[in-house]
Amino acid sequence: MALIVGITGGIGSGKTAATDLFAARGITIVDADLASRIIMEPGKPALDAVAKHFGDHLLLPDGTLDRAALRARVFANDDDRLWLESLTHPLIGKEISEQLAASDSAYTMLSSPLLLETGQHGSTDYTIVVDVPEAMQVARTMARDNNYEEQVRRIIAAQMSRQDRLARADRVIDNSGTLVELKEQVARIHEELLQRATAAEG
Ligand code: ATP
Repeated sequence: MALIVGITGGIGSGKTAATDLFAARGITIVDADLASRIIMEPGKPALDAVAKHFGDHLLLPDGTLDRAALRARVFANDDDRLWLESLTHPLIGKEISEQLAASDSAYTMLSSPLLLETGQHGSTDYTIVVDVPEAMQVARTMARDNNYEEQVRRIIAAQMSRQDRLARADRVIDNSGTLVELKEQVARIHEELLQRATAAEG
């Protein structure tokens, strides 16, 4: 069986920065956030179901999903959130499985902010956590998104705690240093994963 490596981390920890470096080494990255967007594209059954359930006002004039409106709706009502999750989670899982199965790189990476909180973890053989101190998470996210500190802290509070995430890691990438230091860690871990992948196939 091909090796599947899960990679996760809190908001602004550097998942994308890290996975871009693995991708540059020829590794296929399956992105759970991207999968959740693909299943909601116009013409896909999930979007029709959402429009039928909540109303057409959740669609933008171009027929795509108004994500902000949907978020506001499900944030305010647990039943709506549960309905949406029961619709989307299996479809996201299927999309991820298909993309993992289609990969032919030496090993494949599944990148997800919710890897450990969802069943996505079950598809992986190995868990990498990208870790930075909370103050750095806040500073880098604010710089990237022009977000308010309070908003970023609210998202961090809603995510798994740093301690719990680290406790479930097989390997931790410490991204509190420079991008050059990140690159060096990725290079080392990539070599280790290639060996693991070979061992898993043998
Ligand atoms: P999210 O969960 O919000 O998608 P993420 O974990 O993918 O976030 P990135 O977008 O990779 O995080 O990184 C957050 C920001 O910090 C980006 O602007 C990125 O360029 C920057 N960054 C990442 N790693 C470093 C680093 N080692 N040094 C400086 N800046 C960094």
